[in-house]
Amino acid sequence: MNFKFPELTYSYDALEPYIDAKTMELHYSKHHKGYYEKFLAAVEGTPRAEQTLEQIFAEISDAPAAVRNNGGGYYNHCIFWESMAPNAGGTPTGNVAKAINDQWGDFENFKTEFAKAATTVFGSGFTWLVKEGSNLKIIQTKNQDNPLMDVVDGSGTPIMALDVWEHAYYIHYQNRRPEYIESWWNVVNWTEVENKYNA
Ligand code: MN
Repeated sequence: MNFKFPELTYSYDALEPYIDAKTMELHYSKHHKGYYEKFLAAVEGTPRAEQTLEQIFAEISDAPAAVRNNGGGYYNHCIFWESMAPNAGGTPTGNVAKAINDQWGDFENFKTEFAKAATTVFGSGFTWLVKEGSNLKIIQTKNQDNPLMDVVDGSGTPIMALDVWEHAYYIHYQNRRPEYIESWWNVVNWTEVENKYNA
């Protein structure tokens, strides 16, 4: 099988004070690792073990719940970690900045729309910035679904992800999801979002 568990490219405390070290440690080493291991167990010895995640997600409606939930949990957190970095935040530049301005008028308006989508995910889920053709879209998904899955309304290639499960923020922010989302802009890795946009 070709599924690797990614190294975090920054330390657990690198995103302080916006995301606390304890949350990062549990989130990466317990939650994400758990999804990864359960995903491996769910596909081991099946034809899916030889497929890519993209292939699996494209026909996820045919897959057992364990593949959907844990495969999503494995992939979604990879994109989430890559969407963040220490000493990041600020405003996007380059092609992705232009695409955001074309789509939403300006960066502030985009932030408002993205935050609104993230705040209103009911229960657990993710909010995504995806690229489809040269267009950008904001997509909400429930649980560990993602925009590559054929069960999800809306499609496109994820270039940025925000995890709004309570495990992503409860230790530091308790029930204050909007405060977590507002803080999160300080750690967004626009360089990587731009890389994914250009890829
Ligand atoms: Mn999570």
